[in-house]
Amino acid sequence: RKISIAIDGYSSTGKSTLARQLAKSLGYIYIDSGAMYRAVTLFALREGLLNGQPNAERLVELLRGVELDFALNPDNGRSEIRLNGENVEKQIRTIEVSSHVSQVSAIAGVREKLVKLQREMGRNRGVVMDGRDIGTVVLPEAELKIFMTASPEIRAARRYKELLDRGEQVSYEEVLKNVRERDYLDSHREVSPLRQAEDAILFDNSDMGLEEQFERIHSHALR
Ligand code: C5P
Repeated sequence: RKISIAIDGYSSTGKSTLARQLAKSLGYIYIDSGAMYRAVTLFALREGLLNGQPNAERLVELLRGVELDFALNPDNGRSEIRLNGENVEKQIRTIEVSSHVSQVSAIAGVREKLVKLQREMGRNRGVVMDGRDIGTVVLPEAELKIFMTASPEIRAARRYKELLDRGEQVSYEEVLKNVRERDYLDSHREVSPLRQAEDAILFDNSDMGLEEQFERIHSHALR
């Protein structure tokens, strides 16, 4: 019997690594909802809508003509985000997008559009979706809900390493600041703030390696 799995939590807790691994081992589809907010942010940056206060109304209007989907990249076997047919998986991971995304994801009209898309993508069982509001808003009926957390310093160190590996010029302090800011903005926004669903399992992975995390969550999925 296939189920739906919602993985929520703070930024850079390793949600997507775990979600992707879990989906692969269960033969489920994986949906990275954060990639969708990041792609909308990239679009808004390109349109020049994020200079100062974001132009929310204009952004929501322009989004009507924007197509977001995921397509399989044959080079790595991963499903990657597309913005109007363009693969933007790399462009959405920059520190520039990261430092604007929480502003964009706080816009009600943006969430409305993306939540609708996410519900359509997750309407069949056999899905692992990760984000901030999956267990609370997008898939409240999910049979397994995980809420991931770890200390900000540990999360920043992990993200910093990732960015360095990708050749980005950033400092650890800058990454830590971004992690803290996103934590704050994501959990204090008006529309669907980040919070743990009542029926979610709290998972602190500060002192846990990838393998142990996978084993634990995988065993929950098989119950
Ligand atoms: O998961 P990731 O860190 O890539 O998400 C980027 C940002 O997108 C988050 O900081 C948050 O502002 C927003 N987001 C959201 N709801 C989701 C997924 C992501 O608001 N379901």
